[in-house]
Formats: sequence, C-alpha cells, structure tokens
Amino acid sequence: MADNRVVQGRMVTPGKLAEIIEGDSVMDAESIEDASQDCPDCGGNVLEVGYMPSVTEFVTGQKCQDCDWSETDRD
Ligand SMILES: [Zn+2]
Repeated sequence: MADNRVVQGRMVTPGKLAEIIEGDSVMDAESIEDASQDCPDCGGNVLEVGYMPSVTEFVTGQKCQDCDWSETDRD
C-alpha cells in the first residue's frame, strides 16, 4: 500500500499503526496522515490515523514516529 509509513524503524500499514495505538486489534483504519503537532516527548514527527476499534466507535489516534508516545481523542 502506498500509505505505509515508518514508525520506530518499522514499516506499518494504517491498520498496524492503529493496533499499536490501541494496543489491540482494530476493525478498520483510514489512511495515515501527518498530525499538525510534534511529539511532546521527543519533538519527533507525529502521525495520525482514524480507526474503528469496534463497530460503534471511531477514534482518531496519534503516534510518534520516533518514540513510544501515542494518544487518542477518546475521553
Ligand atoms: Zn516522540
């Protein structure tokens, strides 16, 4: 897929990136985008991906390309 990206030295698909953020398998994921902010921990580039952890839920997750930092828009 064209929108695979490198995260912490590994090539990931949108679905794989969503799984890393969620810490679990996800049903579906959209394309990976560049987030508008830098990583608060290391200043690295942050990627953003929208995904569905379950049928009824849509979450936007962010993950640093260089370190373990990640976040979701879930309350
Ligand atoms: Zn970072």
